[in-house]
Amino acid sequence: MLVVEDEPALLTLLRYNLEHEGFEVGEAVDGEDALLMIEERIPDLVLLDWMLPTLSGMEVCRQIRRNTEAGNLPVIMLTARGEESDRVRGLDCGADDYVVKPFSPNELMARIRAVLRRLRPALSANVLEFGDLVMDLAAHRVSRADGAIHLGPTEFRLLKHLLEHPRRVFSREQLLDAVWGPDVFLETRTVDVHVRRLRQALNKGGGADLIRTVRAAGYALDPEKS
Ligand code: CA
Repeated sequence: MLVVEDEPALLTLLRYNLEHEGFEVGEAVDGEDALLMIEERIPDLVLLDWMLPTLSGMEVCRQIRRNTEAGNLPVIMLTARGEESDRVRGLDCGADDYVVKPFSPNELMARIRAVLRRLRPALSANVLEFGDLVMDLAAHRVSRADGAIHLGPTEFRLLKHLLEHPRRVFSREQLLDAVWGPDVFLETRTVDVHVRRLRQALNKGGGADLIRTVRAAGYALDPEKS
C-alpha cells in the first residue's frame, strides 16, 4: 500500500495503523514522488492526501487513471473537513472512496477493506470470517478487531479448517487427518500443542476465546460462553 501524505505526524500515524493491520506500507510526501513510486511498483491501494505540494492529490489520481498499467489501482482520497464540496470532484477524478479528516483508524481500515473487497470480488470469496476474526486466504493474513495475528503454517491450516466448519466439534484424530493429512502418523498430543499455540495467538489482544475445548471429544471454533 502506498500512503501519500505531506504531514509527517499523520503519515506516522497511518503507517503505524496500517502495519498493525498487516499491510506493507510505502510512503511518498508529494505527488510527483508518488507517481514515480507507482511506476516502479504498483501497490495494492493508494491512500492519497488531497492537499499536496507540487501536484495535488486530484491530479495524481487523474494521472494514475490515465496510466494503462496502474489504471485500475484502488485510490482512497484523504480530504480535510471543509473540502467536502470537492468530494464530487474527487470521485470525478476517479477515486474509489474518500475519507474526511480527522478520521478514526477503525473507520479508515473499514473503508480500505470495503474498497479492496469491492474491487477484487475474487478475493472476497477467499475471506473466511467468524465474529471479529478474519482470514484472508489470498493475502495469507489473519486479523481480529485489535489487529494482525501472526500464525505459523500449521496454526494457519488448523484455523482455516475450523473456520470452514464453524461450531463443529472435531476430534484430535479428525484434525490430524484434515490438517496434517491422512498419511501422516503423529500423536494426537500434537494437535493439543498446535491448538494451544493457535489459541495464544488469537487471544493475545485480549479478545474472547474463540476455541472451545470439548472434554473427551475435541475442539471447535465457538466462543465458549455463548
Ligand atoms: Ca496535506
